[in-house]
Amino acid sequence: MKVIISGAGIVGLLIAQNLKIRGIDYVILDRDTNENARGQGWGITLHWALQTFLDLLPSDVLREKVFKAQVFPDFDKKDTGTFKYINAANGETVVSIPPARRLRVRREEIRRILLTGLDVNWDCQTVKVEYTDIDVTVHCADGRSFTGDILFGCEGSDSVTRKILDPLEGSLARLPIRFVGSTCKMNKQEYDFVAAKYDPLLFQGTIPSTETFFWFSLLASPNYTKAENEYWCQVNLSWKCDFEKESFKTQEEIKECVIDRTRDISPDLKFLVNKMVSNDFENGAGLMKELKLADWPKVSWKGSDRILLAGDAAHAMTMYRGEAANHGITDVAVFFTLFDDFLNDRMAWSALSSTYHDMIHERCAPAVKLSHQACLDAHDMTKIFTNSSSPLLSSRKL
Ligand SMILES: Cc1cc2nc3c(=O)[nH]c(=O)nc-3n(C[C@H](O)[C@H](O)[C@H](O)COP(=O)(O)OP(=O)(O)OC[C@H]3O[C@@H](n4cnc5c(N)ncnc54)[C@H](O)[C@@H]3O)c2cc1C
Repeated sequence: MKVIISGAGIVGLLIAQNLKIRGIDYVILDRDTNENARGQGWGITLHWALQTFLDLLPSDVLREKVFKAQVFPDFDKKDTGTFKYINAANGETVVSIPPARRLRVRREEIRRILLTGLDVNWDCQTVKVEYTDIDVTVHCADGRSFTGDILFGCEGSDSVTRKILDPLEGSLARLPIRFVGSTCKMNKQEYDFVAAKYDPLLFQGTIPSTETFFWFSLLASPNYTKAENEYWCQVNLSWKCDFEKESFKTQEEIKECVIDRTRDISPDLKFLVNKMVSNDFENGAGLMKELKLADWPKVSWKGSDRILLAGDAAHAMTMYRGEAANHGITDVAVFFTLFDDFLNDRMAWSALSSTYHDMIHERCAPAVKLSHQACLDAHDMTKIFTNSSSPLLSSRKL
């Protein structure tokens, strides 16, 4: 049996590692020219799928490396796990979600760890997929093609495999929200202040007057930045916007909008926005990037039982509940439980394929909806109060 994996993100690589453990032939390809080609840089929280993730890793060496990828060294040893949502105009806590075990890690480093021992076909963008009852062939933009028994579409939220399987309804649906983020530098004094007053890892909030969402998250501390007095963080903002609005074209346009949206932000947090709009990483922050917010509520694909989806490709969701990667990891665990039954002749492939699909749909379709609602609620002050039942503030496991 040969498995083709299209997309070498966290989920595709985790699948490859587990095929390798079982001695199954696989080929993995990615559109990027190499592992460092694109900034992969944000932090992710592994929480309810943390143990599953660790269990899926092939060795203790990799497990140890995952703990070393924390945005703050050894933070797991002292983490209270509490998640804070604030009124971003006066800095007061609106909701403090009770502790849960978590690991806040750099996504790019996790990806690098997962690449250990795997050969990826870089610069290999899937553009066409053909399948019959007995095999599936993937064609790449550079003319290469790969034939195997099974294809795993793991190309992230805008998955080409998903769109090929479902040309009519496989595309993403935009949300009427505009999202802008940038990576900012802080010195130790600035970081210590934010850590003590708000949270050492991450916190979120809304500025009531403009219903603008504010999100701070630590990305790297001196052990990673290699400068004693240097921390990197991500500052993200989002606000309601017409569907029709075109993307920003220049940094000046973004700057003007960001300054206006944050005019009433707490004076304690203003310096972060000032860094963000400075556009100068040496002295403040890198370029502000706009991210298109979209999801795929259908979470259901049909076509061929030789083609499966996993991770964001299967259940693209917004990041307002911070759990998409946790779902992607769980997809991999679900698949390999079924796959082991298949390998031991306890399950036919067609049953595996449909059971896998149904299990993903059952778990993830509600999750996509909750994240969608959380995204909308983050910009609606009528939803943001203590004891609110909004999925933005309740039952999240960050
Ligand atoms: C700002 C932000 C914060 C987040 N925070 C969290 C969090 O705290 N917790 C959490 O659980 N999740 C979080 N997420 C979500 C998490 O990052 C994703 O769920 C996860 O990275 C998805 O992994 P993936 O492997 O499915 O897809 P990706 O990581 O998107 O990987 C897809 C890969 O496929 C490749 N590819 C794309 N198209 C093609 C093609 N046509 N052919 C070949 N290769 C292709 C890409 O180059 C990429 O390497 C966050 C997301 C964002 C944006």
